[in-house]
Amino acid sequence: MSHSKVVIIGSGPAGHTAAIYLARGELSPVMYEGMLANGIAAGGQLTTTTDVENFPGFPDGVNGTELTDKFRAQSERFGTTIVSETVSKLDLSSRPFKFWLEGAEDGAPLTADCVILATGASARRLHIPGEEKYWQAGISACAVCDGAVPIYRNKPLAVVGGGDSAAEEAQFLTKYGSKVYVLVRRDKLRASPIMANRLLSNPKVEVLWNTVAEEAQGDGKLLNNLRVKNTVTGDSSDLQVNGLFYAIGHIPATDLVKGQVELDAEGYLQTINGTPHTSIPGFFAAGDVQDKVYRQAITSAGSGCQAALLAMHYIEELEDQKSN
Ligand code: FAD
Ligand code: NAP
Repeated sequence: MSHSKVVIIGSGPAGHTAAIYLARGELSPVMYEGMLANGIAAGGQLTTTTDVENFPGFPDGVNGTELTDKFRAQSERFGTTIVSETVSKLDLSSRPFKFWLEGAEDGAPLTADCVILATGASARRLHIPGEEKYWQAGISACAVCDGAVPIYRNKPLAVVGGGDSAAEEAQFLTKYGSKVYVLVRRDKLRASPIMANRLLSNPKVEVLWNTVAEEAQGDGKLLNNLRVKNTVTGDSSDLQVNGLFYAIGHIPATDLVKGQVELDAEGYLQTINGTPHTSIPGFFAAGDVQDKVYRQAITSAGSGCQAALLAMHYIEELEDQKSN
């Protein structure tokens, strides 16, 4: 399919909600769902979590991957074409918009009249000494993906971060580890009260306040120690852990549009007045890629819906112009 009316890049709740609306609007959307784009499976961040308890319609909660599978099935049911490829290059400088897929950058571009960017975000890393050496050999940014691996069983583990992700990951890891330390860089959690309370009342969890990770150490093959520093006293010490899990937030996936549209200081796509409009007509953004405040599945889905409605209107106007 070399030309499409509307292309959606990304496959989380924002992308799939946009796809459902556009497909029901008979615009035959094409979704590029990514092939481990930014290290995350198609379906997005929810594929890295266990139970989602705050998405309406699931009073007993729903597994994150099951929810994304349902999004995908609903997109397909109404006629979305889903392509399991990653978009590696996007040119918004002329019409139709041009884009290329990973591994085919030297070939002819694919084109679209309208593009919805819903590429989401990916896990932030600390980049401490030893991190590269022990990455996936004791260090991970996804407890749900890696926590059950034998190297972590009945071993002391550490989670870095104080938000909802850290609270959730630490809780999850208590199923496998002998003890879970949570390293919080200040004296306060950012996590929502319900998640914070669950974390603090778990007997297998110990929160180390005002503590940062300095260096990952091990036996050359696997991590077995973490140098940590108390930010108040300045003292460094050893924390013997066999697992280190990062839960320190995310980086928006805006590389495709760097230099083409306005990004804020943290790299989030700057939309207009909180809508999916960008500075380029026909190019819309939805979900976490443009939201550093709410970053929820439901808010992403909501902005995906808005982007689809705006895209439909844009295509209608374009077709009116062509026929006049
Ligand atoms: P994402 O979910 O980030 O998905 C975008 C996807 O698009 C990418 O993962 C990738 O597969 C694809 N993609 C990226 N780049 C490209 C490209 N160039 N080409 C093609 N495809 C590409 N929110 C809640 O409401 N409730 C929860 O319980 C909850 N739990 C969470 C637990 C964890 C561990 C995490 C990390 C987040 C959680 N969130 C939760 C937040 C929620 O997952 C996100 O807000 C939401 O998934 C963002 O949706 P999105 O559509 O913007 O993009
Ligand atoms: P977040 O809310 O941005 O929290 C990031 C945490 O990491 C903060 O505690 C932050 O500390 C800390 N941190 C950042 N950089 C650090 C560094 N270099 N060193 C040490 N600590 C560092 O990110 P999140 O927890 O991933 O949550 C993202 C969004 O997803 C949120 O909106 C959240 O509500 C949502 N989410 C929801 C659920 C749920 O409802 N079940 C589960 C997971 C995520 P400071 O506080 O000091 O900045």
